[in-house]
Amino acid sequence: MNHEIKLGKLKAMASEVTVVPDYWIANYPGQHNCQQYCLDCCEKHIAGLEKGVHTPERDDRVEEPIPLSEEDKLSVVENPPHVDGGWGSEYDNLPVCSTCDAPLSGSLTDMAVSEELSHHLEVNEGSVLVASPRKAWELESVISNASCEHQASVELLIEKLSF
Ligand SMILES: [Zn+2]
Repeated sequence: MNHEIKLGKLKAMASEVTVVPDYWIANYPGQHNCQQYCLDCCEKHIAGLEKGVHTPERDDRVEEPIPLSEEDKLSVVENPPHVDGGWGSEYDNLPVCSTCDAPLSGSLTDMAVSEELSHHLEVNEGSVLVASPRKAWELESVISNASCEHQASVELLIEKLSF
């Protein structure tokens, strides 16, 4: 399969993935929250904050909501947290919702592209199997965000794609 056909196939598979706009929480009380979410999860977290709790993220490894400190509760009243974003920010990792893992819109920084490319080219000695639309979306995001200085690596990656 030549590169153009492979790339076409990758794009077709990636287009089966539903990508939703990226949001984040402005005025998060206390520590800075630099997570990105789908709109549903963002609104759920904000509803939690208004009730005085931090709703757990996947990475928190807890099930129960965590109560906010008195200071943070005061901050919620004085500077109400609200939904921000929705326009496709720039990310150092493939943008997915911090809570439900949904693919989000956004672009990748040059560093993210470099890391993803070397990950795929180093880890996978043989071919890179495009096993699912989700995997196709991940690979296609890297390829479409690559600048011309990455062109050689991109060509190598496309060469290794297997369907
Ligand atoms: Zn979500």
